[in-house]
Amino acid sequence: MKILVVGSGGREHALAWKIAQSERIQMVYVAPGNGGTAQDGRLVNLPISDPTALAQFVIDEHIALTVVGPEVPLAAGIVNLFRARGLKIFGPTKEAAQLESSKDFAKTFMQRHGIPTAQSQTFSDSALAHSYIDQQGAPIVIKADGLAAGKGVVVAMQIDEAHAAIDMMLSDNKLGDAGARVVIEEFLVGEEASFIVMVDGKNILPLATSQDHKRLQDDDAGPNTGGMGAYSPAPIVTPELHARVMREIIIPTVQGMAKDGIPFSGFLYAGLMIDDAGNVKTLEFNCRMGDPETQPIMARLKTDLLTVMEHAVNGTLDTIELEWDRRTALGVVMAAAGYPDAPRKGDVISGIPAETHDCVTFHAGTTLDHGTLTVSGGRVLCVVGLGDSVKMAQRYAYEALDQIHFDGAQFRRDIGWRALKRHG
Ligand code: ATP
Repeated sequence: MKILVVGSGGREHALAWKIAQSERIQMVYVAPGNGGTAQDGRLVNLPISDPTALAQFVIDEHIALTVVGPEVPLAAGIVNLFRARGLKIFGPTKEAAQLESSKDFAKTFMQRHGIPTAQSQTFSDSALAHSYIDQQGAPIVIKADGLAAGKGVVVAMQIDEAHAAIDMMLSDNKLGDAGARVVIEEFLVGEEASFIVMVDGKNILPLATSQDHKRLQDDDAGPNTGGMGAYSPAPIVTPELHARVMREIIIPTVQGMAKDGIPFSGFLYAGLMIDDAGNVKTLEFNCRMGDPETQPIMARLKTDLLTVMEHAVNGTLDTIELEWDRRTALGVVMAAAGYPDAPRKGDVISGIPAETHDCVTFHAGTTLDHGTLTVSGGRVLCVVGLGDSVKMAQRYAYEALDQIHFDGAQFRRDIGWRALKRHG
């Protein structure tokens, strides 16, 4: 069987790597892929990004199923286009992807269906937004309505920062259409976790829990990034909390979307904020898997992902159960010099260790050119260690990472600190 994975990041490398382990796989195409998917003998990079051309390729090559990694093609309607041609694809339609592509849509949806989230109001008029901020005070959170590649959220600890964010988005139009409307949200305190499930329109299959590290530097210092490391499972999500998230957030979301006439299928990611009392609020929805959460999650998945995907596109996710490696998987991201503002390209990468039972390296911003692997994007690699404890997983990840070299590499040394703290 032939499968297509759309995307080029570490998330897509991990998904393609896992799907390719199925005995029934003949070929996994990755469009456009990266230097890692180019090196893996079971994967084939496809230099096509236009959805219409991809659909034609899928028809011509008799590809059984397509899985979409990133949000941008989903928000642009790749699922609508494939389905209109009778092709099997796992992901939400453009309409359902609004849960991520419009924060105002997500907030209105959550309010309508009683799903716990921060109080908020949406503005397109800057004078009204400024006066609302004066009325509310700081800390306060300003969010661009549309997709802004992780640059659309300002957590303003001082009121001046909040006003500056309004000027940047509404007056100076720095984020274009994505920032033409803003959601101004109550500041929440707590610990964040990622809760990702697969949905087939009706049935829900939760994946293993995980936690990301958003800041660039150790001790959660420095600017926000796409994510500098993640591990699975996340000990903060106890079985009780898991049940609560399903009951209060995930099930009402899936049922609410179906009731509103826009059933959701695909990976549904709820970014959670958990306070000291164990109350949970939804920070955001993503309509795809997280990156880097996917990398440790896929490293732990034992069930054949191809089979899971077939159930997902056939609407029978209720008939399967997932099996997980009991070990902790912990992934450390290595980013390029200058990331996140101005990542430098072209540095030569060496020393990536071969995959073992305890370690696997997924590529993101890498290119393979005549046998030389170079940096071609902000987040370059995600080195995943698997161990019987968080400490062991961390040790294996950093032992592998210490063998890898490229000039200017940036990474954190403390991935997993929250889980370690929780375990004493
Ligand atoms: P992503 O890149 O994960 O898709 P995003 O740009 O869509 O993120 P959010 O996840 O909504 O933005 O917010 C980014 C980060 O800002 C969160 O991970 C969280 O740390 C912080 N944040 C968002 N909303 C709040 C809030 N209401 N209170 C406190 N912090 C918040």
